[in-house]
Amino acid sequence: MQFHAPTLLAMTTVNLLTVSLALPLLMGRGVSKAARFSQGSLMAQMLAWVFLVASDYWFDHAFSVVSMVFMSLTQGLLFNALSGWLGRRPGGRCLQVLMVLMPLGYGLGFDSYAFRVGWANYLLAAQMLIVARATLYPHRLAGRRWRWLLLVCMVMMAVFTAARGTLGAFYTPSYPSFGALHPVNLAALLATNITMVVCTLSAMVAWREEVEMRLSNLAMVDVLTSLLNRRGFTARAEAMLAQARRYPVPMVAMMLDIDFFKQINDTHGHEVGDRALQLFARLLSENQRAGGLVGRLGGEEFCVLLPHADVAAALVVDGRLREKLRGTSMAELGFSMDYSAGMAVLTPDDTALALLLARADKALYQAKAQGRGRLLQG
Ligand code: GH3
Ligand code: MG
Ligand code: MG
Repeated sequence: MQFHAPTLLAMTTVNLLTVSLALPLLMGRGVSKAARFSQGSLMAQMLAWVFLVASDYWFDHAFSVVSMVFMSLTQGLLFNALSGWLGRRPGGRCLQVLMVLMPLGYGLGFDSYAFRVGWANYLLAAQMLIVARATLYPHRLAGRRWRWLLLVCMVMMAVFTAARGTLGAFYTPSYPSFGALHPVNLAALLATNITMVVCTLSAMVAWREEVEMRLSNLAMVDVLTSLLNRRGFTARAEAMLAQARRYPVPMVAMMLDIDFFKQINDTHGHEVGDRALQLFARLLSENQRAGGLVGRLGGEEFCVLLPHADVAAALVVDGRLREKLRGTSMAELGFSMDYSAGMAVLTPDDTALALLLARADKALYQAKAQGRGRLLQG
C-alpha cells in the first residue's frame, strides 16, 4: 500500500473538520464543561491543521504561528477535559508554560528552519506527554477504559512528534516540509488520524459515563429535602462503617423521627407538612459536625452517622438541633416542632450497618414511648 502525503494531509484536515463540527451537533446543549473542552480540543486541532495547510499558500510566518497556537491549545483543552472527567490532574502549570513558550519561540526563531521545527515539535511532544500522564493518575471512578487508549495514542503522538523535531533540527537538508513523502511524516499523519478517532470516541464514552453518574446520583437523593435517600444513605454509611472498622474510629448513629407529624399534616395541610420536612432536613444538615452523614430514610424519619464522635458529642448535636428547631419552626411555620431520637455507639460486634441502626431504632422507639421530645441511648 502506498500513501500519498498531500492526500493524507488533506484528508486529515477534512476528517478533523467533520468531527469537530459533528461532535457538538450530536452532543447538543447542556453537556458538561469537560465535554465542551474535549469538543474545543478537536476544534483547535482542526484549526491548527487548516492554518498549517494554508501557510503553504499565504502568510507563511503568521499562519504558521497561529497554527502552533492552536496546536498548543489542543493539548491544553484536552488536559482540561481530562481534569473535568477524572478530577484535578498534575502538570497543569507546566503545560501552560509550554503552551506559551512553544508558539512564542517558534515565531521569534521562524527564520531558522532547523530551530523552529526542532523547538515546536519538541515542546509539542512534551505537552503531549503531560496530557498522556494526566490519563494515569487516581481517578474518580473505576472502569474508564478509554483512558488507556488515549494514553497509548498520546505517547505514540509524542514519539512521532519528537521524531519530526529531531529530523527537522539535525538532518534539515534531507527533511523537507510537512506534506513531503517522508516515512516520519506519513507515520505522524496516520497517528494523527488514529488519535483523532480515539479522542472522539473517548469524548463520547466519557460523556456517557458522566450522564450515568448523574443519573445514579439522582437515584440516591431525596427530591423533597435534597438529603440522601435510604439507598444513598445506606451506600455511603456502609463505606463509612468499613472505614471506621479498619482504622478504629469511634462512631455514633442517631435515628430521628418528628413528633406528631401526622397532626401537622392534618392541621396545616400536606404542603405545610412538606415545608416542615424541608426545614427539619435543613437544620439537621446545618447542625452537623464535619464528616457527618445525613439521610432521610423515609416519611419523617431521618438518620445521622457521626464519625469521631462519642455519646457526649451526640448529645451536643442533639441539644443544638432541638433548640434551633423549636425556634426556627415557630418563626417560619407558626408552630413549634420537636422530635424523638435514639442513638447507638459503634461496637466491634457491629459487623453490619443494620445491627447499629437497629439499636438506634430501638432507642428511638423507647424515646417515643417515654413521652417523645428526647434522645435515648440504645
Ligand atoms: P409520632 O410522634 O409517633 O412519630 O407520630 P407521627 O404522627 O409523627 O408519626 P406517623 O408515623 O403516625 O405519621 C407520619 C406521617 O408522615 C404519615 C404520613 O402521611 C406523613 N408523611 C410521610 N411522608 C410525607 C411527605 O413526604 N410529606 C408530607 N407532608 N407528609 C408525609
Ligand atoms: Mg413521627
Ligand atoms: Mg415515623
